[in-house]
This record gives sequence, structure tokens and C-alpha cells, in this order.
Amino acid sequence: MDKHYRPDLIEQEIQAIWQDTGIYTRQDVAKEPKSYTLCMLPYPSGDIHMGHVSNYTFGDVVARWQMFQGIDVLQPMGWDAFGLPAENAAISKQQHPMQWTLANIDRMKQQLIQMGLAIDWTREIKTCDKSYYHWQQWLFLQMFNQGLAYRKKTSVNWDPVDQTVLANEQVIDGKGWRSGAPVEQKEVHSWFLKITQYADELTDALDDLPDWPERVKTMQKNWIGRSEGTVITFTLADESYAVKQLECFTTRADTLMGCTYVVISPQHPLAQEIAKSNPLVKAFIDNDQEMDVKEQTRARLEKTGVSTSTYVKHPITGESIPLWLGNYVVMSYGSGAVMAVPAHDERDYEFAQKYALPIKTVIKTTDSNDDSACVEDGTTIHSGDFTGLTSQQARKAITERLIELNRGGYSKQFRLRDWGISRQRYWGCPIPIIYCDHCGTVPVPEADLPVELPTDVDYQPHTNLLKSIPDFYQVKCPICQRDAVRETDTFDTFVDSSWYFTRYLCPQANSMLEPSAASWLPVDLYIGGIEHAVMHLLYARFVFKVLRDLQLVTASEPFKRYFPQGMVLKDGAKMSKSKGNVVDPTDLIETYGADTIRVYMMFTSPPDQSLEWCDAGVDGVFKFLKRLWHFSYQFQTTVKPTSSPAISAVSPVAFEQLIQQANRDIEKLQLNTVISACMKMMNSLQTINYASDLDAYGHCRHYLGQLLILLNPFAPHITTKIWHCLAYEGAIHEQPWPTANQTILRDSLVNCVIQVNGKVKAQLQITRDEQEDAVFELAKQDEKIASIIANRSIKKIIYIPNRLMNVVVAG
Ligand SMILES: [Zn+2]
Repeated sequence: MDKHYRPDLIEQEIQAIWQDTGIYTRQDVAKEPKSYTLCMLPYPSGDIHMGHVSNYTFGDVVARWQMFQGIDVLQPMGWDAFGLPAENAAISKQQHPMQWTLANIDRMKQQLIQMGLAIDWTREIKTCDKSYYHWQQWLFLQMFNQGLAYRKKTSVNWDPVDQTVLANEQVIDGKGWRSGAPVEQKEVHSWFLKITQYADELTDALDDLPDWPERVKTMQKNWIGRSEGTVITFTLADESYAVKQLECFTTRADTLMGCTYVVISPQHPLAQEIAKSNPLVKAFIDNDQEMDVKEQTRARLEKTGVSTSTYVKHPITGESIPLWLGNYVVMSYGSGAVMAVPAHDERDYEFAQKYALPIKTVIKTTDSNDDSACVEDGTTIHSGDFTGLTSQQARKAITERLIELNRGGYSKQFRLRDWGISRQRYWGCPIPIIYCDHCGTVPVPEADLPVELPTDVDYQPHTNLLKSIPDFYQVKCPICQRDAVRETDTFDTFVDSSWYFTRYLCPQANSMLEPSAASWLPVDLYIGGIEHAVMHLLYARFVFKVLRDLQLVTASEPFKRYFPQGMVLKDGAKMSKSKGNVVDPTDLIETYGADTIRVYMMFTSPPDQSLEWCDAGVDGVFKFLKRLWHFSYQFQTTVKPTSSPAISAVSPVAFEQLIQQANRDIEKLQLNTVISACMKMMNSLQTINYASDLDAYGHCRHYLGQLLILLNPFAPHITTKIWHCLAYEGAIHEQPWPTANQTILRDSLVNCVIQVNGKVKAQLQITRDEQEDAVFELAKQDEKIASIIANRSIKKIIYIPNRLMNVVVAG
């Protein structure tokens, strides 16, 4: 064993052993108990950043800890390799996106290996490999055959200079983020996946995911936006229009008797029809189109409208009520028509006030007032047959009546829209479709897959390159053999990442998913940023349900547990090149070694909270590892004593307590305090005088070994090396995980009195010499104590070890 701690030498040596022995390579069929522990795959942007380090270290620590439990743990890695940044880099560097991407992958893979991750690299995938996207095209064809993929004309943000569709996020102040050209709204044909068909299940199944954070489930529920209510049919009084009736969705059918007008969107077909004979309506529509606003901004606009001078019939009373156009009604949501109940809806109230429309109160609540809409549930009044019901009863009674009258029924609505997956970009997976003048839209036959992305091209900016490669798009129709045209759109890269975690299980298979590989599913722990809480995680859940319905997997949910990791901050802000607050992981690894960085990342804050970067903290962790190394070196070079004094001075209790604490915390994935327990063990070891006491020597050797194992998931290189140098038996990763010796702990129990503000409230059994924070944790678990101190701030804790704790609370 070297006297000096040299992480650069140790880490390379240990990593080479892992590589040669293939200890992280897993079989195709999982052995029970298994854990598929997965971090979101990175985009190969060039270099790994601190966010990657934090994510992957966390996943790796959990994976290594699970391996100690005898669990068959799979931890794969791959690359989300298609996408716009590669094209932009290609433009600025005049380099092919493939070259740029592969060079980045090589560099980043090297960096990940240096971090010492227990990854099964035999399963590596790159989404830009044809062996990967072949099966994406195959999956798309299955969805097409099931009616889950379709093409329609839709309005998009169009950059006239770059000749591409832009995402909403890429439009800044009405201009293309890259070209700076004013963005146009353009009608283009796009492909969609019918995620809405699964909207109900995607909502309901969230309740079966107890190990997902509540806030993420709420975000998904809000995004899907299911509302359950009633659809109501209003018939037009004037029968001369082509549109005969309007369907309005409402969650407040109890207020139907207070409906005093109906509003339709300016884009509604009926509005267009009325405009032909009504110049005021036409002017309103023209003006509205010029504004060209998106759904989300519409809600904030000042509400304006125009009367159509035409009427609809109230479905229950048959009364004529006026029909209006309003800028706040969105055609893409629901049917583009709403029933207006100004007494009980704020938006309708504002509109009715402005245009002097009647307001009829039909719900009485305890705090009604006349100056605004009363939107609460209450009791029905002025509601004919339905008077005197609770809102809930009224909703049911009125809906039932509508069903009898054949003028409506129960209905559900969703905010979720189908997933638009067409991108007019070169660097993506081609959509396997051919258009034939005679046969229409023809899927590429499975035998002809993959539709390869041509790579032998001169990369030119500003165009969808595929449109300039006749060899690519000029094809024969697979059905009639006549000339036809290939689809030149590529998939949104969110499609690539919606199923990648299944491909890791059989990366070379000549089918999308081998039945044997499915034994690893579902993913047991999925780690990645909260920014993916909606889009990626929702798409992946949707696609997984499609795979289930195609009988490729048996589970219904892809990720049993999702753990969003906190961000890495510096000077209070997210690290970014533009802010100049980036810390480069590669530099740090060169200076301190990967073990220090790994321990630092896990020690500084709980994994679900953001981490504020601190150079001094890194240095502190480095010193701790150096201390461990030097202690081990001294221990190794000390001659084993031959006898012990009559009274041995060593007590194992403190060590057993720390092992107990470490286990309790690691179960909760509260990794920072596991490291503090390790640091305390190190301190205790340093107080043992082992050189002249055989008992103490044995004791020291035992607990040093336990410390090495506890610390191994965090700092795998240094602990493996010391384990080996100190000639402990067997390989460190094959040892059982340390668990506290309950006999030692039980024999050391003492009674401790717990007081609150000086009054005795409980007596607890604690282990002798238990630390103050651990005693306080136990006290908080006592029901009586918990109820007394709940919601009160703790001012002070007085602790007399082994005897008494007094908690001083405010109020
Ligand atoms: Zn044809």
C-alpha cells in the first residue's frame, strides 16, 4: 500500500479491473430479486456537466447499494443522439451532424467511465443508430395499423427563413429564435400519435404509483386535465343554417337554468356561416384572426365579443337565448361553444357586464353577493322543477333530464391534445410512410425497414435536407409500383426517448423487444430532472401502454418509482455557460479523483433538493478520503499486538449505532446522512489505541472493514483498493451489507426521560451514548411528543446523555 493517496492511479487501476472482469454485465433474463435502476439518458452535447454527475452518481450509489443486498441490478446507459443542436453545430462547424454526435459520445462516454459508474456498457444504445431507429419505425407502423398514428393539417409556427416548424418555446417575441425572422402561422400536414385515447388510463393509473412524488402526479393530472361533466345540446332557433345545433360542455350543469346566452369561438364553422350575411360578425372574425393568438394567451386577453343577432333554444325551457361570438372561446378546446351563466362564472360575468346581457342567479350560497359571480356550489333557486336541490343533486337531475329529452348526457373532457410528432428536420428518424397518388398513404412494408437516414450528404443550413435528396424521396409505391414520394418529415426526438429503456434489454435483437428481456421490466427506479415531469414521462407512459396492448410487455406502467433529482446550483443559480458559473467535472476529477466528487455530491444535500456548489466542501471531502487512506496505511504497517490488557477499553456500541443509522437513512435514500455516519465512524476509529491491544486491534480491523463497505457505493475505488491492500477476505463487492448487531445494541439500552418545556412527557429506551440528533429523531416518533411539538417552533434542545432530553418549544 502506498503511503500517499493517489486517486488518479487507484481509480484507473480499479476501473480496468471492472472492465476486464465484466462485473456489471448482466444476463438477458433478470434473476429475482431484480432491480432495473435507470437514469435518464443524456443528450450528447459535448461534455458531461455537473447535472449529469449528480444524477448518475445518485443512481450509481443506489445501484451499488442494491447489489450488496444480493439484488440483480441492471444499470445501462445510452445516448439521445438525434436533435436540433447537432444540426446547429453542424452549420456553425461545417461538420456532418453524425460526426459531431459520435465524437461527443466518445468523449462523454470516457468521462462517465472516469466517474466509476457500475454500468453495463454492453447494452449501450445510440438513438441515431439504424439498429435502434429500425424498431422505432416498426413500432410506429404498429401504431399506424391500430389507428393510433394519423396525419392531419394543422396550424404551426413556421420560420420562413429556416423553413421549419418551431416549437412554442422557440418563438421569441414573435420571431424565430435562430433566424430572427417574423414567425408565420402555416397550415402543414403533420403526423400525430393518439395519446388522447389513453387519457383516462394515464390519469387513473397515477393513483397506482405510490412511489412517485405527489407533485409530479399532480403535474401530469393537470396536464391531461380531465374534467367530468355534462354535454348539453342547444338547437338553433333559425333553421336556415347548415349548423343545426351546438354542443356545450360544462362541469356545472346545476347552473343550466341560469344560462342567459351562448358564446361560440370566432373560428367556429357557424361563425363563418353567419359572417356571410352579417358584416359585424365578419369584421370581428377578421380582426380576431389578425391577432393570431395562442390558447394560453387568449385567457389573459380582454374579453370582447359581438352579437350574431341569432338565437338558440334553451334545452329545458325552450326559451330563445342570444348567440354571441367571443374571443375567449377556443375552438381547439372542446366544441368551440360554451353556455354562459354570468351569475356563476367570472368570465361570463365580466362579459355580461360589458355587453349588458341578463344575469340570472340560480344558486344560493352562504356568502352570495351581487357584485361578482358566485362560483361556489350551493342550493338551486329559481330553477323550476330543479329548485331546492344541492348543486350535486342538481347536476345529476338536470343531466338525467337532458338524457330523457335527448339533448345531452354525461361527458368527459381533456386538456390533453394528440402528440404532434412531425419535424421538418434532417437529423432525426425518418417516418416510414410513402404517398402514392393512386393508393394514398402507404406504410413502408416491415421487410423494407429501416428507412435509413442518408448520411452521405453535404450539410447545408436552412432547409429540410431530405427534400433535396431525390434518391431518398423518389420511390416506388409498395402496393402498385408506380412512382411515389417518401415522407421527408422526421420524428420528434421525444419519440426516440419514449421507449429507449426497453431497447437496453435486447440492444442487438432482431425484433423490437425479446420476450426474455421483458423480465427486467418495469424499471424499478427512474432518476432524472423534474423538468421531464410532464412531456417525457407522459409520452413514455403512453407508449408503454401501447406496448402492453401489442402484448410486448405485461406491466402497465414503465417506471415503478420516479425520483426527480435536485439541481446543481452555483451562486444561487443553475450552472450555465452564459452565466459563467460552470464547474467542469473533468477538471475536478483530474484534481481530486472521482471518489471525492461522488462523495461530495451525495454529502452536500439530500438527493431531492438542489445542491449549492462550494469549492471548500469539495476540499473537505478530499481530506476525509485522505484521512481514511492514511489511517488504513498506518493500520496496515502496524505490527499486530499479541495480547490485550486485563480490561479492554473498546466499546462497539457507538459503531453499531452508526451502522444502524446508516441503514435507516439509506433505506429512505437520504444519502447525505449516511456519509456523515461514515465520517463519525472514521473519527471513532482514530481514537482507538490498537497498537498494543489485541482486542482493540481486532475491533478496529472489523469496523474499518464495515466502514469500507458502507462507503463503497459512494467511493467505490478507494474502498476497493484499501480492502484489497488490507487483505480482507473475498472481494469487497461480494460482502454482505453491514447491519447493526442488535444484541450489542439491546445490551446497551438505557432509559431516557423526554421533557417538553421542562415537563416530563415520555420515557424512551435508547442505546447508551446515542447521539443527540438520533435521540431527538426517536422522540419525534413518539405519538405524544409528536402531537405536542407539531407546528410549534423548536427553540432549544437540552440533552444530558443517557438520561434526559428537554425540548423547549415556542408558544
Ligand atoms: Zn400506389
